[in-house]
Amino acid sequence: MKILIINAGSSSLKYQFMESEGGQVFAKGLCERIGIDGRLTHKVPGREDVKQDIPMPTHGEAIQAVLDIMVDPAKGVIASTDEIAAVGHRVLHGGMAFTKSCIIDDACIEAIKKCIPLGPLHNPANLMGIEACQKIMPNTPQVAVFDTAFHMTMPPKAYIYAIPYEYYEKDDVRRYGFHGTSHRYVSARAIDMLGNPEHSRVICCHLGNGSSLSAVVDGKCVDTTMGLGPLAGFPMGTRSGDVDATILEYLMGRYGYDIKEMLNILNKKSGVLGISGVSSDFRDLDEAAAQGNERAALALEKFIYEVKKFIGAYATAMGGVDAIVFTAGIGENSKELRASICQGLEYMGVEMDEEKNNVRGQEVDVSAAGSKVKIFIIPTNEELMIAMDTAELCAK
Ligand code: AMP
Repeated sequence: MKILIINAGSSSLKYQFMESEGGQVFAKGLCERIGIDGRLTHKVPGREDVKQDIPMPTHGEAIQAVLDIMVDPAKGVIASTDEIAAVGHRVLHGGMAFTKSCIIDDACIEAIKKCIPLGPLHNPANLMGIEACQKIMPNTPQVAVFDTAFHMTMPPKAYIYAIPYEYYEKDDVRRYGFHGTSHRYVSARAIDMLGNPEHSRVICCHLGNGSSLSAVVDGKCVDTTMGLGPLAGFPMGTRSGDVDATILEYLMGRYGYDIKEMLNILNKKSGVLGISGVSSDFRDLDEAAAQGNERAALALEKFIYEVKKFIGAYATAMGGVDAIVFTAGIGENSKELRASICQGLEYMGVEMDEEKNNVRGQEVDVSAAGSKVKIFIIPTNEELMIAMDTAELCAK
């Protein structure tokens, strides 16, 4: 089934048009500066990228621009929008309402709206993408795929916060976790690569600009590092990861920040960027550290240390581990970081083959012969998961 996948942000919208069976990508691209002016970048494999300035006052014009270029005789890939069998939307926060993907109807939209307080930055943008598609393609089925859904199998001891229980009962305060579609895809691939054993314990390291780990037992998530929002866990490009809440009170008192300013610092100015003062991009940090920048080296060291600690924690939580998976921008591309993270984990049976690890972006087993724990690099494919869910739900 040919599926259009939409990932709508507040001023941008990513799209991919692909076959749900086998995952062939026909076209993909990005609308930027929605609400400002509007720019479209359209990519078709084997052709030159197309860049166009198109006015996009709202997400509606952005979706229309995507559909227009898809059917354009020279730049497009289809003769008519009727060839789009369904649309799959990435939605950030499904709260407790969504444990899996669902066909978008009025009840689904209401439930996504109810999750806005939990995902105040992303859910409104996701809804704008959905509503624009509904308006322009009223007869095409739409499916919502949630970043949180995969983690809804966590047991209470993993998702409950040790604050008064009433905030969980009345206000849905709990750990949700994110990158769920990626964790679902790579953990399923890892189980396949393990030979589909009856029981499996997998640690997925999604290391990109945003990063999270998940612990997956028999294909079901039992713990993850992100929390109510995506700020939690270990340091990321610009996000702090877990911090002592006392820091908030202390800095807000000292500098007169309000909570918005404080959260902006933790979300946008922290992580490896905050420590290094150099960049949020790990390539820049590698370069700076190689040139002797001590803070860049410290940022890398902190990142590696915290990822290692969570690997140890999750191995303990699961009573062992059969495979560790590396995915996303850093996990797929940086052999140095993968090696540094695995170094020192030999005591728990994690042994990497340095030669095999000398690859980028390939699905491959990089563990040493005889390593008790397999180490896999698995390029993530959230879009394929969204396309598969969309096709499956629409076929029903
Ligand atoms: P993602 O959010 O998954 O797209 O990952 C993006 C991040 O991956 C970038 O910000 C970089 O920090 C990181 N990255 C990409 N390529 C490399 C590389 N070759 N070495 C280290 N980090 C990389």
